[in-house]
Amino acid sequence: MAQNSTGNSLIKFLKHINFKNTIKKHYSSTLNLEIRHDAYQEGDLIFAPLNNDVYQLAKIISCRVIEDFSESAKEGEDLEYYVHFEGYNRRNDKWVPHKLIYCDSEEVNRQQIMRRDIQTQQDQEEEFLPNDEDAGMDDKSIKAHEQSTMFRTIEWVQIGTHKCEAWYFSPYPEEYHKLDCLFICHYCLSYFQCDEDMERHSQRCDSRYPPGHEIYRDDKVSVFEVDGAKEPIYCENLSLVSKLFLDHKNLSYELSPFLFYCLCEYNDEGYQIAGYFSKEKDFSKPTDTDSFSPEKFEKERNYNNLSCILVFPFHQRKGYGKFLISFSYELGILEGRQGTPETPLSDLGHRTYISWWTFKLLTFLKHFSGEEISVSDISQQTGILQSDIIKLFESFKILRYQQGDHFLVTPKRLLKTLIKKAGNPGHPVNPELIHWAPFEFY
Ligand SMILES: [Zn+2]
Repeated sequence: MAQNSTGNSLIKFLKHINFKNTIKKHYSSTLNLEIRHDAYQEGDLIFAPLNNDVYQLAKIISCRVIEDFSESAKEGEDLEYYVHFEGYNRRNDKWVPHKLIYCDSEEVNRQQIMRRDIQTQQDQEEEFLPNDEDAGMDDKSIKAHEQSTMFRTIEWVQIGTHKCEAWYFSPYPEEYHKLDCLFICHYCLSYFQCDEDMERHSQRCDSRYPPGHEIYRDDKVSVFEVDGAKEPIYCENLSLVSKLFLDHKNLSYELSPFLFYCLCEYNDEGYQIAGYFSKEKDFSKPTDTDSFSPEKFEKERNYNNLSCILVFPFHQRKGYGKFLISFSYELGILEGRQGTPETPLSDLGHRTYISWWTFKLLTFLKHFSGEEISVSDISQQTGILQSDIIKLFESFKILRYQQGDHFLVTPKRLLKTLIKKAGNPGHPVNPELIHWAPFEFY
């Protein structure tokens, strides 16, 4: 079945399987290095079912032998493959049984050409608002990240009463990887290997909300500010669980420089986390007043108003992603500063930002009744950094430059269409309900 396989490369491949195959306890950990001519090879392009049995082009990442398979299995049927779907995010990577995979070289070539055309078109469309998920990383670090996080080693996660599939690898301690399901306390985020341990913990755990100050509450949600320096265990647990759903390449293990804003739904039982964003404490404030100059301060200032953002999958489509983004800007407005998210953003994060910026800025323009306004004024009123505003206006081709002047072309009908395209505005933040003072770093 393998396409043009040679003995040497297959032995190398099977060694790779043996090395990597520590994922599920019912799979063999001492694989014989026999030559398997019926195996697909690492890097082979094949077709595998992605969702609802729709077949997509995929690349073989690795292979493992199913230990308790009957000896009468047909060629290759005792194997399954970890595959990456071409053009799809890594959260879709998964193990697929041999019998569900097929290879058709002509169709592979056709799909590759088609995919290149789509990619070129997407690159052109995203020219103004690019999102390089590998920003700031060299090839070696990208490769190292991909190698160390190649396999999702926890299939399912149960947080409180919500059970969902994990998307990515997360660096939990070793003994928590060979599990079908990881159990997590919805309040303190401690993690457990089995239901019984989780149950015992639930009877003891007296935590009912994130360990910080409640700084916002409306009729549906609440926000707590948690200091990474004061609550390192909670924040580490939060980072670990969020890593199951974020392919964040620059995940920081140093938590004390960050504040975590935890969005919770609440009921009679307590406050259950639904998502969060983290934000770096402001280190750029001038400490040495003698050498302070406004120019130096401006140059060294950290404009990031958000470092990492996540809404748990079982709370998506409730408008919480946009709520968190909106909240980060409202805090910026209270601090008297404009901000922007730290890059790179995840693909979902980037999409949510574009949609939120579009909605926020174009609604602002739609309601603006004056004749003239500067980008700096818009920036001050929305909290959005000037360069982000300009990029967005340019991407919609509403910012024009003529005879030395910049002006905005904003026919009401165009604004209406673009705002509609931006989608749901998300769960709204009521700024009057925020009870918060900027963090002072000493
Ligand atoms: Zn707990």
